[in-house]
Amino acid sequence: MEAKIKAFMDEVKTRNGHEPEFIQAVQEVAETVIPYIAKHKIYNGKNILLRMVEPERLISFRVAWVDDDGDIHVNRGYRIQMNSAIGPYKGGLRFHPTVNASILKFLAFEQVFKNSLTTLPMGGGKGGSDFDPKGKSDDEVMRFCHAFMLELNRHIGPNTDVPAGDIGVGAREIGFLFGMYKKIRNEFTGVLTGKGRSWGGSLIRPEATGYGTVYFAQSMMQTNGMDFKGKDVVISGSGNVAQYAAEKALHLGAKILTLSDSQGYIHDTDGIDEEKLAYVMDLKNNKRGRISEYADKYSSATFYKGETPWTVKCDIALPCATQNELDGEDAKALVKNGCVCVAEGANMPSTPEAIHEFHEGKILFAPGKASNAGGVATSGLEMSQNSLRISWSREEVDQRLKDIMEDIHDSCVKYGKDDDGYCNYVKGANIAGFVKVADAMLAQGVI
Ligand code: GLU
Repeated sequence: MEAKIKAFMDEVKTRNGHEPEFIQAVQEVAETVIPYIAKHKIYNGKNILLRMVEPERLISFRVAWVDDDGDIHVNRGYRIQMNSAIGPYKGGLRFHPTVNASILKFLAFEQVFKNSLTTLPMGGGKGGSDFDPKGKSDDEVMRFCHAFMLELNRHIGPNTDVPAGDIGVGAREIGFLFGMYKKIRNEFTGVLTGKGRSWGGSLIRPEATGYGTVYFAQSMMQTNGMDFKGKDVVISGSGNVAQYAAEKALHLGAKILTLSDSQGYIHDTDGIDEEKLAYVMDLKNNKRGRISEYADKYSSATFYKGETPWTVKCDIALPCATQNELDGEDAKALVKNGCVCVAEGANMPSTPEAIHEFHEGKILFAPGKASNAGGVATSGLEMSQNSLRISWSREEVDQRLKDIMEDIHDSCVKYGKDDDGYCNYVKGANIAGFVKVADAMLAQGVI
């Protein structure tokens, strides 16, 4: 088996040698899915996984735009249309200076499995740009988004490819992107998700990734007779996912100890309550400030510059910032300090070494493609509402989200339970996600 996995990875590395994040994401899937393929005849000899790691289409384009001083800038735009076996391409857009083909290919690859897990008919895609919205005026962001959509519009559509937000792309950016799509195509359709409430957006979509992560973690905890009540929770990040993960964990009676951004983390020994969280939301979403300002305002908090929060003693850890933010040493510290559950709100925040430590320590560990699938699942619900031209209530969407997260949890347990009873959620998520897409690809033939 080792030799089979190595031969497969050698081929992936030959083709994508300069894309470390993509190779990392594929390696994790190969290690769990290749043994499954070997045991299931229908997948033998079909090169299914090799077909899955090659994007169906990879689009790269120039985005030229003018800043407030009249200077011209050039950024690179991308859309990776990874797999459409079970539905239109679906996945977010990321605007961040670190964006490149490797990052977007890893995200698009993960998205295929994640979307499959949601039980909804969505293929996988991802896109974005190396544009940095930080420090830009609203007008500059608008001009960039309009220029970006001037090209992207010809590659997407409500039945073809439906982008949404990710890091650096929130309600403001989705608004500008939607406006330009509508103008060019003269169509008011559900071509993007994460839209504003008054123009086709779904209730609960802003909350969905964070809420879903906590719903998933709650299901995991319940398998061991535990829940969030009275638990100490460490969260990284302070954007959309972190904010609503914190809100839901608070609702379930937990104490939130930390939040972070790229400059460091804050540790509030009294806990971040609803009022303090409202301050963070205003600081990050409206004032676009830094998390260090929290420690200036609340004396119970300390700001740790340039550090991550994983050495803070906790029961539950929710990495909600970005890829590879939690390494093997961090994982060792979490396990040593008694952490019993780690659920990823971000995409691939734990390194392979960190995942190894969690599995060795036999603690509950959920990979992002399972635990953060609530965001895209609710995007799927937004697409359904747009197609039906109706709008479901908050309670209805929240209930559907909860049900989907429970279904994903059950699928992971179905395929991930080891002989000793320990659930390997990584294996479970990869195999469950794979089976649905692979079966559709088999049915559709070699294309
Ligand atoms: N960017 C989110 C994710 O990583 C959401 C994508 C979407 O809603 O399409 O799943």
